[in-house]
Amino acid sequence: MENKKNMDVSEQIARQRLKERGVEVEDIAKLVLYLQEKYFPEMTLEDCMESVNAVLSKREVQNAILTGIQLDVLAEKGMLDEPLQSTIAVDDSLYGIDEIMALSIVNVYGSIGFTNYGYIDKQKPGILAKLNNHSDGSCNTFLDDIVGAIAAAAASRHAHRVARVQP
Ligand code: MG
Repeated sequence: MENKKNMDVSEQIARQRLKERGVEVEDIAKLVLYLQEKYFPEMTLEDCMESVNAVLSKREVQNAILTGIQLDVLAEKGMLDEPLQSTIAVDDSLYGIDEIMALSIVNVYGSIGFTNYGYIDKQKPGILAKLNNHSDGSCNTFLDDIVGAIAAAAASRHAHRVARVQP
């Protein structure tokens, strides 16, 4: 996949922003594997990559990526107005809009995405632990939820597809 000819500008930029913020498609695919290996032991990282790429091709997902990362970057630069600047920069757990924005991604493949998202948000495996480590001064208040939500949506997509091909 990742054939640039079939990808519109919005998708290309969304993928580029994720990369710039240290998130590779493979990192998200590993989260999908983490969510699904218990239920689908045969599932490979390749399968997970395929599902993540499908999720990234959705416009509402690209919009959430672009909006969330933009806010993280502006907070990092201290360019937001108060009280938003401090709230986002310190990743205030009572803020909640980062999680709400992530729901627009989780919704794409139906309600089992909610369960996956809640679970992975609590466990914070792999790249999510890295994004939540604030020691380097980076702000990933929106990005961690977006990445978890993409993984949750990709896991839901896979579960739906498997359910459809099995008798
Ligand atoms: Mg967050």
